[in-house]
Amino acid sequence: MVKDDFCMVCGRKLRTDEIAMHKKIISRESESFMCLSCLSKHFNVPEEKLREKIAYFKKIGCTLFFM
Ligand SMILES: [Zn+2]
Repeated sequence: MVKDDFCMVCGRKLRTDEIAMHKKIISRESESFMCLSCLSKHFNVPEEKLREKIAYFKKIGCTLFFM
């Protein structure tokens, strides 16, 4: 169940892809999430790379992205 769908850092409304990505690269147990731009700052990677990863995980059928 997703209770909080706002970014824990900047407060922006999250998309399901961003929540899935947070679960994928940080923790499935997380109860608060970061948006893509905060994740990119957190890991010091370009947001574009994270978008590529989302597309990749969807392509390989990662279940986190189909909830
Ligand atoms: Zn954010």
